[in-house]
Amino acid sequence: MYKKEILKDTSSNGKVRPWKQKKLANLTYSQYLEVLNFKKAHNVSKCGEVLQFAKTDNGLKLYQTWFCHSRLCPLCSWRRSMKNSYELRQILDTAYKKDPSAIFLFLTLTEESSKLGELRKNLTSMNRSIYRLFQYKDVKKDLLGYVRSTEITVNRDSLTFHQHVHILLMVKSSYFSKGHYLTQENWSQLWKRARKLDYKPIVNIKKIRASKKDNSLIASAKEVSKYQVKDYDYITDDEKGDLVVVDELEHALAGTRQLSFAGLLKEIHHELLLDEKEDDLINVDDEKEKDDVVDTVIYRWNSKVSNYVRWE
Ligand SMILES: [Zn+2]
Repeated sequence: MYKKEILKDTSSNGKVRPWKQKKLANLTYSQYLEVLNFKKAHNVSKCGEVLQFAKTDNGLKLYQTWFCHSRLCPLCSWRRSMKNSYELRQILDTAYKKDPSAIFLFLTLTEESSKLGELRKNLTSMNRSIYRLFQYKDVKKDLLGYVRSTEITVNRDSLTFHQHVHILLMVKSSYFSKGHYLTQENWSQLWKRARKLDYKPIVNIKKIRASKKDNSLIASAKEVSKYQVKDYDYITDDEKGDLVVVDELEHALAGTRQLSFAGLLKEIHHELLLDEKEDDLINVDDEKEKDDVVDTVIYRWNSKVSNYVRWE
């Protein structure tokens, strides 16, 4: 029977984890999928319905549940962004230890926004252009590895989609020697050529300090691993508009990857056995990992209460 004990899951810094908000958004998203006749709609509505937590001395730790793994699912996206950020920090930490003299750069590549119906085509050709960019001698010569992600922001007024790419580059220290260094203008020209554009694209490149005292590397890791599309871009009060946006994004993102690794960072990703954990959205951080499990506790989504309620 239900006891009205509401789920309270807080992280070690005291922040309440947004289970309720994400589950509510997940249900709206699944309703949209149903209206749009996506077969997975029903499965998506079951995402994270029953949560089993391990009880530790330091609070709850997610132990078991079922996630739908749909790319735009607000629950799954939230878990994935935590997971990506945690894994990326591990990768960068290892990379930095392997080559302390290496330098990290943060590159953002943009282009004109996509009109409705064009997003999938543009994302595919953008990927090919990035591949071309990294074949260029000037780019390749000091490159040790990179991780990249594609982010999409939605302009609801013009109904356009702004696709852009964040790349965290790891380069040899020789990058800053004479004749090697690439200015923002150089990067812009290279991207223009690789992307075959007839206009000058906006590009941003900045050096990141990798020292322990400075957390700009962590901040950049977060920037790369954050949500691909924010759920407030497709779950709003404007249902009609949301449906158009969800339909476009679903078709554009089907079968694509959120994060891609290359070079040394790809090797480390493999070394740390992260390929095997790719679908694991349960263990997304190292919090409470070492705590003794006292007991387990189950919470179930209750639509009447609009929250997770303890199940016994
Ligand atoms: Zn999900």
